[in-house]
Amino acid sequence: MRIVLVVIFLCWAQLVFAAPAPRLTVVASVEPLAMLAREVLGDQVVVKTLLLPGQTPHFASFTPGQAQLVQQADLIVWLGEDAEPNLAALVRKSRGQRLAMLDVGGLTLRYGVGHAHENGHAPSDSVKEAAHSAEEPAAAIEASDHDHEASELDPHLWLSPHNMARLAHALADQGKSLGLHSADTDAALQAFEITLANTLAASRKQLAPYAQRDWLSQHNPWLYFSDALSLRVGMQVSSGLQGGTSARRFAELIQQMKSKSVHCVLAEPEARRAMLARLCQPGDCRIVEADPLGRDLTEARYTDLLVHLTEQFKRCLQ
Ligand SMILES: [Zn+2]
Repeated sequence: MRIVLVVIFLCWAQLVFAAPAPRLTVVASVEPLAMLAREVLGDQVVVKTLLLPGQTPHFASFTPGQAQLVQQADLIVWLGEDAEPNLAALVRKSRGQRLAMLDVGGLTLRYGVGHAHENGHAPSDSVKEAAHSAEEPAAAIEASDHDHEASELDPHLWLSPHNMARLAHALADQGKSLGLHSADTDAALQAFEITLANTLAASRKQLAPYAQRDWLSQHNPWLYFSDALSLRVGMQVSSGLQGGTSARRFAELIQQMKSKSVHCVLAEPEARRAMLARLCQPGDCRIVEADPLGRDLTEARYTDLLVHLTEQFKRCLQ
């Protein structure tokens, strides 16, 4: 009997005294921000991604479960109102701390890429396509010259490693203000910076032979990435993920792909595959799947995403 009591006491004591403090929950709006939080804050926190695999930040509307996740997070990390307008109202209801990437100093921002927020204020793609067809001669239409959207922010901020390095610092500071171990956090941040520098150098080296090659994607989320890796600006089918492509626009694209010797099409998961397949015929052209949000990786770190995307670009361009 006494032995049983001792065993019970020991079990209880182990639970009470050895159980680690509950870890902080960090909710990241999109997967690449979750990847960065994993890499910089490590296992000091539990990282959750808000967007479901089938949602893109351009169209997302949220379930009650997602609203609750934001509300209960110790820290919510998101892109900020100009890049994720649909999330703003939800973030305002969160009880924990908030970190918007767009509030971080020293970011490099791109504007005027012709990227449509279909559910925002911008006109829909089909409207824009119609306007182009009516106003401009075919030869004048370039991949990203929608100058009537010169003020619009390119929301794909996470594809800039420079921007993510800035965010990493802000994340570490915020983590420490939430009580994370200071020395561990600093060490993880430093390790991240070294890995990021090495990864970028290796990626640039791998892609350098293809720096002059042209390529195509559906809505070109890749401008920050192609800039960081000294690649050419990709052609885009349309400025948003939705909207039709007129027969005239299709003919223009075929013409442009021919004149620029385009043999590589990067297909976002939401891209209109049948149309890309018509533009890019086997034998002469290669379609490679590439998700700018890295939803095809699990429990990855941000530098893993860079390695992964580099491989996909290389496979497409070579
Ligand atoms: Zn996009």
